[in-house]
Amino acid sequence: MSSFRRIALLGIGLVNGSLALALRQKGAVEEIVACARRAETRERALELGLCDRALADPAQAVEGADLVVLGVPPAAMGPVAQAMAPGLDAAAVITDVGSVKTQIVHDVVPHLPAPGLFVPGHPVAGTERSGPDAAFATLFVDRRVILTPIEDTDPEATARVRALWELTGASVDLMTPEHHDRILAITSHLPHLIAYTIVGTVADLETQTRSEVFKYAAGGFTDFTRIAASDPTMWRDVFLTNREAVLEMLGRFTEDLVRLQRAIRWGDGDTLFELFSRTRAIRRAVIEAGQAFERLPVPGPSAGDRTKAEPD
Ligand code: NAP
Repeated sequence: MSSFRRIALLGIGLVNGSLALALRQKGAVEEIVACARRAETRERALELGLCDRALADPAQAVEGADLVVLGVPPAAMGPVAQAMAPGLDAAAVITDVGSVKTQIVHDVVPHLPAPGLFVPGHPVAGTERSGPDAAFATLFVDRRVILTPIEDTDPEATARVRALWELTGASVDLMTPEHHDRILAITSHLPHLIAYTIVGTVADLETQTRSEVFKYAAGGFTDFTRIAASDPTMWRDVFLTNREAVLEMLGRFTEDLVRLQRAIRWGDGDTLFELFSRTRAIRRAVIEAGQAFERLPVPGPSAGDRTKAEPD
């Protein structure tokens, strides 16, 4: 059992839906109230057992909740925080699951009656699927959740949110919002941008060549298409709300790409071989850090494709 009794999930898609299933499986909370704009989202969340009640109004949804989890696209966090504020309980702890932290802190804090109870967070786990049907209970098992408490955050609130995530099977790290955004720019945001670019380039090829690409698509391109199938709203928001860090990493990446272009043009095999050997070692380090491993498929219509689970 967690220290929270009633949880309000604002947004009930892949991430908040999976949190709901994980907490239900552990019997960790007494009641889960979900909030979504569209009636079909609310109905589906109820059908899938992600919540006990589903409401359209954020202020009503948070009434009586001792924990609120914001799980909407990054640019919607501020407006949703503003809409829920009138219904908030004075002692309610607020957290979020957004993929970007600095901008979300900036957008959400002004609407909170007690900023000391805000514990910004980001579960580094996800798939390219979205909506309530994409949710599955084991999404966070053996994954990392990053909490980015701000100066005002009460350590007790951070400890309670940490304990909740640990119940889902995740391990929790703490860092500043700015540090989070720099790290994620390189580990997640830049790879997504590259995937969107490669798949976009193929989409622009003339029809004949494109159909051959699809026919002979080998592992590399197929993997890129999966990443590039990620939710367009969320990823548009990620790049616009983590602009500085992404542009910095993109600048470095572009320089490195040009270096490789030169090596290929001048037949400089040593440069290519040296880089490919270093990157092979990095793959081993990632596996050792527990962030890449084969996952077993989870049966059931809402399970998602766990063999292809991809950190966000
Ligand atoms: P999702 O499956 O698309 O669910 C989003 C939820 O927010 C839905 O319930 C949607 O329902 C609601 N919503 C969408 N736009 C809204 C708006 N403008 N105002 C209010 N509600 C809105 O998204 P998700 O993948 O769970 O992502 C949620 C958050 O988690 C994002 O901030 C994302 O950055 C972060 N995250 C995502 C991943 C990932 O891999 N997908 C991983 C880690 C963290 P209605 O449209 O019916 O309102």
